Amino acid sequence: MPASKGYAALGAQSPLAPFAFSRREPGPTEIAIEILFCGVCHSDLHMARNEWGQATYPLVPGHEIVGRVTAAGSAVTKFQPGQVAAIGVIVDSCRHCAPCDRGEEHFCLEGATLTYANKDRVDGTTTMGGYSSNYVVDERFAHTVPANLDPAAVAPLLCAGITTYSPLRHWKVGPGMKVGIVGLGGLGHMGLKFAHSFGAHTVQITTSLGKKADALKLGADEVLLSTDAEAMKVHKGTFDFILDTASAPHALEPYLGLLKQDGTLTLVGLPEKPPTVSPFALIGRRLSIAGSMIGGMPETQEMLDYCGQHNIVSEVEVIPIQLINEAFERMLRQDVKYRFVIDMSTLK
Ligand code: NAP
Ligand code: ZN
Ligand code: ZN
Repeated sequence: MPASKGYAALGAQSPLAPFAFSRREPGPTEIAIEILFCGVCHSDLHMARNEWGQATYPLVPGHEIVGRVTAAGSAVTKFQPGQVAAIGVIVDSCRHCAPCDRGEEHFCLEGATLTYANKDRVDGTTTMGGYSSNYVVDERFAHTVPANLDPAAVAPLLCAGITTYSPLRHWKVGPGMKVGIVGLGGLGHMGLKFAHSFGAHTVQITTSLGKKADALKLGADEVLLSTDAEAMKVHKGTFDFILDTASAPHALEPYLGLLKQDGTLTLVGLPEKPPTVSPFALIGRRLSIAGSMIGGMPETQEMLDYCGQHNIVSEVEVIPIQLINEAFERMLRQDVKYRFVIDMSTLK
């Protein structure tokens, strides 16, 4: 059993601390990777602190993983030792239901296996995430990484990237549309880059005046401060589509007010407390509220390849693992530009 080192939360109130465990040897269709970089998603914080009531401890977070293949099973076709590989939010699924057959493993009817704090389908253990030295995964749930991209800046694409790419594609965001992105954090800055790249008129909606210059640099055509009532009035009823990435509880009505008739507000942010919304905020212009979760394996690879072709990566602050608890606190203060990524060589 290969030994693994990582950082784990031992309870909802405890900071992350060094933790040793082991992983299985890779089976015939599996690869083992040495983790080089792992992004820090706000979901890691929600989970480590059990804000969704789904945590099990010890909990090793991390689902934005880029690593180097150290071993490949005999039947592996996509990877060879030495190659860079990436793993996202899910590491397995039933592999035979209709969504799995369509490559929508995230909608698996039997429930996909998450990268951490889930029951492993192969060996029955609890999955341990990417704030660790290595991972073992079936090649179906691993992705190739375009060689022209910086591996540290690729890591956040595995969750923040696909979680914004997928809904923007699904709702056909493109030229001629006015699109809003709520929240300039890890997900938000990727949503901004993709919406801009797809040719939409893209408005970054933020609570942080200090992020305005960055938003314009990252591709926003306009920046809208959601706390500025006058500015919100100017944009009222003008958006086709809004992607809401906010991590903290917030009212939806101000954003619904920005939508045109038949517009859609898609929620990807997962605050601890659910929103309440009056139907009156929807009926007058036949508005929709929708939700979206990461993406399937083929679409995740499509997104990575698109990023390779268009030179799109995350804006990252690379940190040693020893600073993870400070990074969590800074994320809560909206002080991240725009994704922390852990350099996993600092574990040694
Ligand atoms: P993050 O980097 O911390 O960014 C969140 C941003 O939300 C903040 O930077 C802030 O942007 C904005 N925000 C915070 N409080 C707000 C409030 N009260 N009202 C309006 N905006 C607020 O977090 P992240 O990693 O991007 O994750 C965002 C959320 O998505 C989390 O809840 C996470 O769990 C969830 N998530 C969902 C999926 C999925 O599949 N659906 C996948 C990954 C993550 P400004 O400073 O610009 O206002
Ligand atoms: Zn995530
Ligand atoms: Zn399935």
